[in-house]
Amino acid sequence: MFKEDTIAAVATPPGKGGIGIVRVSGKDALAIAGQVFRSVTPVARWRSHRLYRGALLSLEKTLLDEALAVWMKAPHSYTGEDVVEFHGHGSPVMLRHFLSHIFACGARPAEPGEFTRRAFLNGRLDLTQAEAVLDLIDARTLKSASTAASLLGGALSRAVTELREQLLHTQALVEAQLDFGDEIELPPETVLDAIAGPLALIDQILATYRQGSLLREGARVVLLGKPNAGKSSLLNGLLGMDRAIVTDVPGTTRDTIEECIDCEGIPVVLVDTAGLRAEAPRDPVEQIGIRRSHEALRQATLVVFVVDRNQPLSAEDFSIYEQIRDQPHLVVLNKADLPPALHLREQLKELLSPDTVVVDVSARTGAGLQQLRRAMAQMFEQGSLGNRPDEPIVTRARQYASLCQARDALRQAHDAVRVDLPLDLVALDLKAATDALGALTGEIHTEEVLDQIFQQFCIGK
Ligand code: GDP
Repeated sequence: MFKEDTIAAVATPPGKGGIGIVRVSGKDALAIAGQVFRSVTPVARWRSHRLYRGALLSLEKTLLDEALAVWMKAPHSYTGEDVVEFHGHGSPVMLRHFLSHIFACGARPAEPGEFTRRAFLNGRLDLTQAEAVLDLIDARTLKSASTAASLLGGALSRAVTELREQLLHTQALVEAQLDFGDEIELPPETVLDAIAGPLALIDQILATYRQGSLLREGARVVLLGKPNAGKSSLLNGLLGMDRAIVTDVPGTTRDTIEECIDCEGIPVVLVDTAGLRAEAPRDPVEQIGIRRSHEALRQATLVVFVVDRNQPLSAEDFSIYEQIRDQPHLVVLNKADLPPALHLREQLKELLSPDTVVVDVSARTGAGLQQLRRAMAQMFEQGSLGNRPDEPIVTRARQYASLCQARDALRQAHDAVRVDLPLDLVALDLKAATDALGALTGEIHTEEVLDQIFQQFCIGK
């Protein structure tokens, strides 16, 4: 039933715009176009993948808008079904009216992600590619977008499908050995080799997850330091605008402030905290702010410890550093436009772990901010990521979990062959591995998994 009906939605974002696109997909798409669109070439004589100029009609058959329309004949469309798109002006009122005419002609409103879900069900793309569509739409930096585009191009699907085919072949060999043991020669070394190659490749792909998830979800960087160290000024400097309030009254930032920046391609959410004071403040609002700072700290990918280098380190600096010592962190010595405090370097040597990255900046003049961006990016890139567009990258927990399952099953199969366990156990492990890889691309799927993925989409996609 799911694939039988025809769906429609506005595909452009809500609000006014230069153009507004209504998309219709399903077997009645062209017939509906014939009722809601009037063009010099009648719809019945349209050719696929051609744009036709004409008029969008209201329910009362009056002119709603001048527009272009295109029919994409199945299976050569996004969904794999007959699709008609109407490109009118971006007027929300007009588009709503036009859509209600389409519904009156028999289409029904599309669910979130339903166009892409149909594309998946019709074999136009697999699950990793469907997820890449979402990643591409949500991308906050160019690098995130190009990673999503390479996933959409099939970088992960191709690698996983190839791995699965190799392993299915090995599985078939092992099963044949089980069934016709006397007639087939299958030395253990052959099976071990056939498992070791895919296992190494899976490990290699798994290693991209840290970077892939950073590119998709972004990193959370928490600015921490005692009041007046210059955290808000630093946030403003990195943002290139005045977002946070800067004053010389300690404790001005009472709540956490979050802003997104592009840090050498990685989307970074900068969190300016209320600061952590050694003694608990009396003001209840400030207390809440400090509680939020602790919360932000727990979720941080990286902590930037901001120190006023114009002042000697105080007990407060030492106490703050104690709280972040075990987290990934770097140190910013702010106010580099002023002379450094005497003995600061000696104090820092005493306080910091020897490999701590220290960057001198002036939030006021902007000196050192570029070095700081680069230092943050380098800390994120401690994972591995090449820049080849066809390199498989894992960006989502679901993909990561399936690959881990496949890896664990393969390790088990490898161990079983090595210690000469019965071959039927090896066959079971191999099946678990190929099933996990099948789940990753969606070759094997359940409705629940599809619901979970496609509910994250917007309507019209
Ligand atoms: P926060 O409490 O850590 O958020 O600190 P603010 O950003 O509010 O800054 C505290 C004070 O230090 C303000 O008066 C800022 O103008 C000043 N300040 C911040 N960064 C610099 C800097 O790089 N150089 C100088 N000279 N002053 C700075």
